[in-house]
Amino acid sequence: MATIPALSAEKLVDRHGRAITYLRISVTDRCDLRCRYCMSEAMTFLPREEVLTLEEIALIAERFIARGVRKIRLTGGEPLVRRDMVELVRRLGRQVGGALDELTLTTNGTRLALHADDLFAAGIRRINVSMDSRDPALFRHITRHGDVAKVLGGIATAKAAGMAIKINMVALKGLNEHEIGPMLAWCAAEGHDLTLIETMPMGQIDEDRADRFLPLPAVMDSLRQRFDLQPDDHKTGGPALYWRVAGTGTRLGLISPLTANFCATCNRVRVSTDGKLHMCLGHEDSVDLRAAIRTGGLAAVDARILEALGRKPAAHDFSIAAGSAPAVARHMSVTGG
Ligand code: SAM
Ligand code: SF4
Repeated sequence: MATIPALSAEKLVDRHGRAITYLRISVTDRCDLRCRYCMSEAMTFLPREEVLTLEEIALIAERFIARGVRKIRLTGGEPLVRRDMVELVRRLGRQVGGALDELTLTTNGTRLALHADDLFAAGIRRINVSMDSRDPALFRHITRHGDVAKVLGGIATAKAAGMAIKINMVALKGLNEHEIGPMLAWCAAEGHDLTLIETMPMGQIDEDRADRFLPLPAVMDSLRQRFDLQPDDHKTGGPALYWRVAGTGTRLGLISPLTANFCATCNRVRVSTDGKLHMCLGHEDSVDLRAAIRTGGLAAVDARILEALGRKPAAHDFSIAAGSAPAVARHMSVTGG
């Protein structure tokens, strides 16, 4: 690789005045599950040559860190199916406590028991684990073949390693809505946080997402009948709004892209598995950092990052209507959720 050009200390501020301090990277689009709201059963994946190498991911991440990004989340696809994942975490983890405030991971948990100790040693202190149901049969149905016992084992190992755990649960009408209250009670008993997510219209799947869309304001109305929920001003750098379950340390987060737009405070950009820099989850626009790094080196990457920033849209315009095509064609697994 050619010598690394110096970076100006210029921070990343978009044309709407929002400082970009949070980067999400999808390290692989592959996954060992096939959650119904995320991908189709016959999902196909990118050929290897189109996927960023570990070195490319690390170099691109470092360009963002030098320009003021303080938090990085590694996601996918399932990040722990990528073989060199722990190596990447070790490399970026060296910056935690210095240029980076936090390095985090979103995982489906199936391989967490194998890697939790290494991830903790490499600098990961908080993880999001997606678990849409604790019922083995329903979990298998939603993920098409997953084993919730493995996820629960992974969560227990990560907790024992010292990580703080947030459970991600996509609220699905007629599927797991009856489990939301019990999941919150379980999280409170275990000392985990819970984030509920509205299903987003990203990528073609085998079902109509409108059939499963569950608006979170309605979920909150029913949770308030069982739990004393106090507003909480907790900030993680992400889009969730938080409540505290009174009498416990547990926070309930809500990610409601359909019913409560949070774009005015957006501080995030995403690098997809194939190296596209997406300024917004809900728009197709992107710039190609993979082409930049492979043909023009890091100076080209820097130039494309600045160009992208000038194109970050003010807001997404997601909507879910029966029978309508997804708002964006690419899946969340490629862009990184
Ligand atoms: N495989 C890992 C996992 O499931 O945690 C990381 C990637 S996954 C794309 C990240 C998060 O996005 C998960 O919490 C998942 O439930 C959520 N997700 C995936 N597709 C979604 C969609 N269409 N709408 C809302 N959330 C989605
Ligand atoms: Fe895989 Fe995560 Fe998508 Fe489920 S939500 S299919 S675990 S990438």
